[in-house]
Amino acid sequence: MLKKIFMTAATAVIDFLFAPRCAVCNDYIEERRDMFCPRCRAKILAVDQALEPSSALDEVWRITRYREGSRSMLRALKFNEGRRADEINQLQAIRRILEMAVDRRLEGLLARSDVAVPVPLHENRQSERGFNQVELIFGEWLSTRGLPIENVLRRVKDTKHLFDLNREERRAVIDGAFDVIEGASVRGKRILLLDDIYTTGTTMSECATVLRSNGAEKVFGLVLASDFD
Ligand SMILES: [Zn+2]
Repeated sequence: MLKKIFMTAATAVIDFLFAPRCAVCNDYIEERRDMFCPRCRAKILAVDQALEPSSALDEVWRITRYREGSRSMLRALKFNEGRRADEINQLQAIRRILEMAVDRRLEGLLARSDVAVPVPLHENRQSERGFNQVELIFGEWLSTRGLPIENVLRRVKDTKHLFDLNREERRAVIDGAFDVIEGASVRGKRILLLDDIYTTGTTMSECATVLRSNGAEKVFGLVLASDFD
């Protein structure tokens, strides 16, 4: 009882000194655990299916829009190397988005999948950064829902960022960039391919093609952010 009173008082003091703020617009919010104000929350959540995914993918789903949604959080996670505190806050915000996003459609997607496979970084970049942010974003969320993550793909070509390239150039750069790791088997499996951002779909499509040519039965895509509408 005493402990409870103390904790409530402590929370009140912390909230007074460090009032909880929205992770996107920085407005005050009522509950710290919400992390977003109602306005941003409504804008961020945009669970949707791409109407025309590339032919190698059976379905592609996104959780937020990129520009009006999770861009600032993803950029902080990707490029703030060294600023650990920022990374941790952004990661918590992203994980909160995933929790808020769960609905029938996403649950159905997870139920149709046997295993989740992150789009891999090249080992040069992975060791530079020390982690693959795709695994950081989705790992916990998927493991509490019983879907294992397996790193069965590897990036054999160290492609630079594709931002500035057009669709054709992207395709040329990404061609032959991925491979299934020796000894890993995807035969007959229904795979949920994971990435953080989906723009033209070139990267995911190439991964899906490799998985299919190694016998995968289905390849679905799930990305945190896309502006495909
Ligand atoms: Zn806000």
